[in-house]
Amino acid sequence: MQTIVTCGPSQTPDDIDIPALRARYRQERDKRLRPEGGDQYAKAADGLKEFAEVDPHTPPQAREPIAPEIDVAIIGGGFSGLMAGVRLKQQGVTDFRIIDAAGDFGGVWYWNRYPGIQCDNESYCYFPLLEEVGYVPKSRFSDGTEIQEHCRRIGTHFDLYGNTLFGTSVSSMQWDDGLQRWRIGTNHGDDVRARFVIMCVGSTNKPKLPGIPGITDFKGHSFHSARWDYDYTGGSWEDPTLDKLADKRVAVIGTGASAIQIVPFVGKYAKKLLVFQRTPSSVDRRGNVPTDPDWAANLGPGWQQERQRNFHQWSFEFLPPGKVAEDAICDFWTEINRNMATRLEAIGEELPLEQILAMREEEDYRVMERLRRRIASIVTDPATAESLKPYYRMGCKRPCSNDTYLETFNLPNVKLIDVSDCQGVERITEKGIVANGVEYEVDCIIYASGFEVTTKLDRRLGIEPYAGRDGLSLYDHWRDGLKTFHGMTSHGFPNHFYTGFTQAGAGGNITAMYDQQVSHIAWIVKEALARGAAVIEPTREAQEGWVRTIHETAVDISDFLLECTPGYWNGEGGGAGADEERRKKLKFIFGEPYGPGFYAFDTLLQEWRDEGSMAGLELTPPVAANDAAEPESVA
Ligand code: NDP
Repeated sequence: MQTIVTCGPSQTPDDIDIPALRARYRQERDKRLRPEGGDQYAKAADGLKEFAEVDPHTPPQAREPIAPEIDVAIIGGGFSGLMAGVRLKQQGVTDFRIIDAAGDFGGVWYWNRYPGIQCDNESYCYFPLLEEVGYVPKSRFSDGTEIQEHCRRIGTHFDLYGNTLFGTSVSSMQWDDGLQRWRIGTNHGDDVRARFVIMCVGSTNKPKLPGIPGITDFKGHSFHSARWDYDYTGGSWEDPTLDKLADKRVAVIGTGASAIQIVPFVGKYAKKLLVFQRTPSSVDRRGNVPTDPDWAANLGPGWQQERQRNFHQWSFEFLPPGKVAEDAICDFWTEINRNMATRLEAIGEELPLEQILAMREEEDYRVMERLRRRIASIVTDPATAESLKPYYRMGCKRPCSNDTYLETFNLPNVKLIDVSDCQGVERITEKGIVANGVEYEVDCIIYASGFEVTTKLDRRLGIEPYAGRDGLSLYDHWRDGLKTFHGMTSHGFPNHFYTGFTQAGAGGNITAMYDQQVSHIAWIVKEALARGAAVIEPTREAQEGWVRTIHETAVDISDFLLECTPGYWNGEGGGAGADEERRKKLKFIFGEPYGPGFYAFDTLLQEWRDEGSMAGLELTPPVAANDAAEPESVA
């Protein structure tokens, strides 16, 4: 394995009091738990539509409705949709359309163009299809501009632009048993009749807003971080010189991964910046470096998959020393496992699982303490530094890295407003924001408040109706828990495939996870067409069997999630109430993954394909008479 960084264990403090910290973590959690859980957020609808539904990057294009009959509709043109198109083409399936509301490929990388946007995952792992398109990213952590350019590169390289309906959002999806097709309604009045549907909607596709009273009363300017308004701030995506903010008082609500990247730019240019923080993120040093051209020139075939596997194993799983190649990534995602590996190597013998877990917890406390002390060494105002310290375990929230975020709080025009005691911003008024009983007047509010991730699926998708056989709603089918076969299909939803965090393999590298899923789906679609099937659907028994497998192999992390501060990574901690009540309502960001792991799931899928009988899926030939019939209008 080629490495570009060499690393050993990190220096973490050992003078920590774990019982005291554990109590502090709990205290920080308890004061943030809210009974409404995920319902605390306002839907970006009604008076709030402009926060999510406006496309600031491409003017709307009117067009006549269409009603094509196609083999496959891919819903979404981000990385997963692009890869679905690529894998279908490689399987010889070319009659498909990618449908996306955006004006170009990219998904989140199309919509999110805020100043400072970069990927927090190493680009050599995160950018998909690097070897296929012959590209190596310019640096370890790439800017959003380079990532969207890569999306367009994939679209061009694999000739996907002609297969795509941009500016088109799906409003309804219904299985038509007579036609043996999905009928897809859109904002243009289309009636797309697709034999198969592959949902590639990503997990951060829909902006979410805090359900703060008075949010529509504000008379100043406001927008969501995923719909950045450069007309208002000045500058551009390529050159984020936000010169129009020089006389503006700006508020940023939220301190997640987006805000961490935005704050340094707004702090630099605005007359005044107020950052409203409910829970601090952990922020490590970034250490971004340009790609070493010698390293890039000497990469051998298969290098990317090997690197992705290495990243996954060091960041997401834990394999004792000697079982995997050394950590090739050496960043903040892999630190805890790297430190553990060093200790285990020194012990030199296999330890029981309990001892390994205890060691992991200790390393976690030490790393988080290292990060807290780092804050104290950078932020000069002690009270601000204290508020910025994260008191929870790594993995409760998405970890971040940035070399200018913490430093921004030393600027005289920047102020942190800690709103943890009042469980978030209290109210928005005509003039500004009320928190801790104080009204802060501002000219502009930027909502860096995240996305519908672990809130209810119907909120996230907004497709209505979304119905399979006999009008069965997918939202109802999954209301009391996921029910899938291999995480990608469900009984009652013929020819329907889902990608994302369901009951499949969860990976440390999201693009590798999508590739695993869409490659498998593309193979099934190809086989179904080759075998003359018009309909494929998992049997009820196969679905029940898979759900059982998922439950039987599950690694129970509910104790860990219960202890975490609430957020979208744990379904807002299951709301408030007794632990056992909350435990039932926890939602893990990675869904209900296959317990033995991402690569074990890969092997399982490969063996299933190799076996050849498509066990668990029922194949039905076309119904000739119905196929020829003119469909009823679904309008
Ligand atoms: P997040 O959901 O991570 O952050 C939302 C923020 O809004 C949180 O700090 C949250 O606080 C805060 N908030 C919500 N409601 C209120 C309220 N009522 N009052 C005050 N604060 C409130 O969204 P992001 O957009 O930052 O990130 C979302 C995801 O997007 C990331 O986790 C990541 O997966 C992805 N992303 C990836 C990047 C990359 O590098 N690849 C870069 C940026 C984003 P609290 O924590 O208390 O809930």
